[in-house]
Amino acid sequence: EHYERIATIDTHVHSYLALTQERALAQAEKIDAAVKAGGQLGPLAGVPVGIKDVLATRGTVTTAGSKILEGYKPPYDATAVLKLEAAGAIVLGKLNCDEFAMGSSNENSAYGPVMNPKAPGHVPGGSSGGSAASVAAGLCVASLGTDTGGSIRQPAAFCDVVGVLPTYGRVSRFGLIAFASSLDRIGPFTKNVADAATMLEVLAGPDPLDATSSTTAPQSYTAELAKPVSGLRIGIPEEYFGEGLNDDIRAAIEKSLDALREQGCELVKISLPHTKYAVPTYYVIATAEASANLSRFDGVRFGHRSAHSETLSAMYKNSREEGFGPEVKRRILLGTYVLSAGYYDAYYRKAQQVRALLTQDFLAAFHKVDAIVCPVTPSPPFKFGEKTDDPVQMYLEDIFSVAASLAGICGMSVPCGYTRDNLPIGVQVLGKHFDEATMLRVGAAIE
Ligand code: GLN
Repeated sequence: EHYERIATIDTHVHSYLALTQERALAQAEKIDAAVKAGGQLGPLAGVPVGIKDVLATRGTVTTAGSKILEGYKPPYDATAVLKLEAAGAIVLGKLNCDEFAMGSSNENSAYGPVMNPKAPGHVPGGSSGGSAASVAAGLCVASLGTDTGGSIRQPAAFCDVVGVLPTYGRVSRFGLIAFASSLDRIGPFTKNVADAATMLEVLAGPDPLDATSSTTAPQSYTAELAKPVSGLRIGIPEEYFGEGLNDDIRAAIEKSLDALREQGCELVKISLPHTKYAVPTYYVIATAEASANLSRFDGVRFGHRSAHSETLSAMYKNSREEGFGPEVKRRILLGTYVLSAGYYDAYYRKAQQVRALLTQDFLAAFHKVDAIVCPVTPSPPFKFGEKTDDPVQMYLEDIFSVAASLAGICGMSVPCGYTRDNLPIGVQVLGKHFDEATMLRVGAAIE
C-alpha cells in the first residue's frame, strides 16, 4: 500500500531517491512468518520506514544527495538501520536531502528539491527535507533523519511532524556519511510523540562500532511518557524571544507554554547569554570538520571519477570539481580557511572556546529547570528560491537550533499550530544530556 502511495503521490513530493522493494518484501515476509508462527514480534513489527540518504544501506545506492556519490552502493548497513529492522521495521527506501546534509531548505540536493506537503509552494526545510515530507505525506510511518545544526528539528517544524534530536552519543553514528563528526546525530521523524519514543527506544544504546556512542544505559522512553508533567520546571530563554521572532510563532509558543502551566509545570525565565555567538561558532566548527571529512571523496575510493584527467592530481581535482555542488564547495573553502596556519587560533580555536561557553550556558540553566521551551525557527516555511541567493540569510535560519547542537544536549520539535497563512509552526523542547525521557514528556504534554 505504501509503495502504491509512493508511486502516485511521490511524483509530486519527490521525497524518495531510491526504493528498496526487495529488501522490504523479504522483511515483510519474515514478519508475516513470525506472526503465523505466533512468535515474539518486535516493537516496530511491520512499520514502514524511510531512511535519509546519508545513512549507508547495503547494496542500495546511497548518495548523500550528492552527484559525487552517484551509483555508490555501500557494502554494509548503518547501525541505526539494522536496529530498526531488528525491531521489525520495513525499510521502504532512501530519502532525499540537502547535499551532505548541508542546508536548511532541501534546495541543495543534487537530485532536485522536495515539496512541503503541508505548505504548498514552500520549502520542507532541510537538510532532512525528504525525511520530514515523507512522514507528513503518509509515504512512510516514520523515518530517520540527521541533525548537525537543526536538520531534524527545522524540517519537522516546517512539515508539521515530530522530530527528535537525541543527545550526542545516544544513537550510533556508524554508517552515517559524516558532515561534522562532533555535531552529527541521527534521530526519528514521526507523526506523534509516542511514536518518537518508540523509535528512540529502538535506536538508543551503545555500539562497539562507534567510539562516540555512549555506554550510559538508555531510559525506557515509552514507559516514562506516561508520567505527568506537573511539578516540572520549564525554562523560557529570553534570548530566543527577542526581536525578529515572527508574531504568529510567538503566539503559538505562548499557547504551548500556557498548556504546560495548566498541567502543573512551573515556568521559569532563564538566560542563555552566549546565544548570539551560536551561528558564527557553528559555521566555523561545522565547515572545519566538513573540510576534513569530505577529503575522502577523491574519485578513487567512492562514487564519481572524472573521465578526463591526465595526472593523478588532476583526477582528484576534476572529480571533486564535477562531483560537489556549490554549497559543499563553499563549506570546504570556509573550513579549509579557518583551519589554515595563521587563522587557526583566530577562528577554529576561538570557536571551540565559545562552544564551551555555550555548553556552560545550558548546564547552568539545567541547574534551575528540567527542560527548556523555545521556538525552532524565527520564521515559518519560506518560498522556494527566497534565500538561495544569500547564504548568510540561509545560515541565519539556524539561529535557534545550533546552540543545542554545539552543546550536545537533546532537543525536539513538536507541532504547535499554524500561522494566519496556514503554515505549520513547531515548538522546540530542549532537555539535559541523556534526559530524553523528560523532554519527550514535555513534548507529549504540548501536542
Ligand atoms: N542548516 C544547517 C547547515 O546547513 C544544519 C544542517 C544539518 O543539521 N545537517 O549546516
